[in-house]
Amino acid sequence: MDKNELKKLREDLVKEKATVEEALMSTAIKNPIVKDYYEQPRVEDIGSSPDDTALEAVDFDRMMALKNTQEQRLHEINETLAQIDSGEYGICVNCASGIGAARLKVIPAATLCISCAQKTGR
Ligand SMILES: [Zn+2]
Repeated sequence: MDKNELKKLREDLVKEKATVEEALMSTAIKNPIVKDYYEQPRVEDIGSSPDDTALEAVDFDRMMALKNTQEQRLHEINETLAQIDSGEYGICVNCASGIGAARLKVIPAATLCISCAQKTGR
């Protein structure tokens, strides 16, 4: 992956990070202590009857799953950005050989080269 491709990827990741953070702000409450972690999702208190409570519980589970997905993606983006900035991006964590540009295009957060990925089944 050449410098321009890397620069483009970095820009895309920064943009995506902003989108994910924005989405997280509406599904969850930011953890005030741990950076980039979010607490329980925002679920409106829609009422106090048992039916309402059941609805809220379903909503809570759905929001929790959404929050976890978004949070995981945010961490993945942060990790990839850190790798780009430290010059470690695109290097297999297992065998230290370069990860092919074609593979990185499909899986930008790939940390294993194609042969290691095949060996470990990831
Ligand atoms: Zn490898």
